[in-house]
Amino acid sequence: MTAPKLPQPNLAQPKLTAPKLRFAPSPTGFLHIGNARTALFNWLTVLKSGGRYLLRLDDTDRERSRPEYERAIIEDLAWLGVVPHDIARQSDRLDRYAAAAEELKRKGLLYPGYETPEELERRRKRQLQRGAPPVYDRAALRLTAQDRSRLEAEGRRPHWRFKLTGQVVSWEDGVRGPSRIDTASLSDPILIREDGQPLYTFTSVVDDAELGITNVIRGEDHVTNTAVQLEIFAGLGAAPPAFAHHNLLTTASGEGLSKRLGHLSLRGLREAGIEPMAVAALAVLTGTSEALQPTATMEELAELFSLGKVSRASAKFDEQELSALNGRLLHKMPYSAVADRLSADGIEGGEAFWLAVRGNCAKLADAARWWGIVASPIEPQIDEADREFLAEAAATLPQKELDEASWRDWTTALKERTGRKGRDLFMPLRRALTGIDHGPDMAHLLPLIGRSRALKRLGGEAA
Ligand code: GLU
Repeated sequence: MTAPKLPQPNLAQPKLTAPKLRFAPSPTGFLHIGNARTALFNWLTVLKSGGRYLLRLDDTDRERSRPEYERAIIEDLAWLGVVPHDIARQSDRLDRYAAAAEELKRKGLLYPGYETPEELERRRKRQLQRGAPPVYDRAALRLTAQDRSRLEAEGRRPHWRFKLTGQVVSWEDGVRGPSRIDTASLSDPILIREDGQPLYTFTSVVDDAELGITNVIRGEDHVTNTAVQLEIFAGLGAAPPAFAHHNLLTTASGEGLSKRLGHLSLRGLREAGIEPMAVAALAVLTGTSEALQPTATMEELAELFSLGKVSRASAKFDEQELSALNGRLLHKMPYSAVADRLSADGIEGGEAFWLAVRGNCAKLADAARWWGIVASPIEPQIDEADREFLAEAAATLPQKELDEASWRDWTTALKERTGRKGRDLFMPLRRALTGIDHGPDMAHLLPLIGRSRALKRLGGEAA
């Protein structure tokens, strides 16, 4: 018997690679809401298209990178709902950058320069005075082997520059559409400092190439880098990923976000009691053609998101908008989403309590105040003129266990007996029963307060 014929791979078909995206913060500070935008654009793309999400810690700057920021980044992303499939650290990959640098040197694409920062700065100023663009003049390329030995004998260490082609680089940007940059207008970038430290422009390319990144979604402050980096990919003979550059978030006054703006850090927002999904919805939907709206889950947010909806203009956001969005999110939030946090705060009212008060919570912490009003002694607010009415109310309070229908039955009976209606009927009851003149629907609160406590409060007792 002949073995069954196995299907043969069709070699003419291109290999389909699963998407792999990355978020690449440097651990030099806490993530802010603008970083969350980038992190989430990548995360939502992975949610929609499948594939993997790499958190890459760009930590080659040894002076400024800190392990505590690294931990905070991972923690803050998890709080937001982003849990990377893989984590890579650039500091673990220094040998890869050294190997790639050797390759570029062999190809004549990486050349040493010996100018000090001061010399470069002086040259730049002279160019500007002459009205010339401050582009590096490639003086280092004209050094002879002899010149270099002499400079090194003086104790100078070279930095290394990438030799740009000076041609137009173009790409199809996922947000900005057809994009082109003439690299003749740019200085050859320094990829390795004189102390040997490889710089982001370079390390990012080596990683994106070697770690199989298929799509780079990042802020538009990196558009020029993309032209340079595409030339470095070509120099290394590596296929580049697809690029998309999104607009940046600014404060309401148009200021750029920086790591120094502590209160807009994800930590700060968490400490202020803002819900992660409110932060996520705001970070993603601001500056897109989609209306700002609360979304209960990442999947729901992913449905609303596409790179095609991201606008070109910068996106202003307002902290007040975030508070309002937080409230709207809580007003619809199911009990299951908050149950653990409520019981951690000692709130035992269960689902009935949450459904009663959620519409009156701007932050989850507000639930504790309503729980206090329901379950701890309060000072009833009673006007002299209402005492008799409240005594009547106490006498009329249904005898049986109070439920959602009790309030209507009770106030209907009271209306008939006293002739009071509207505000005159309801407000004295609310003020006596809760101590304040506004709040959740009394029909829901009354059964939570319970019969015996309600009777005491109607009699003016702090119960
Ligand atoms: N570490 C870079 C940054 O935070 C990463 C940029 C990129 O996504 O390539 O700006």
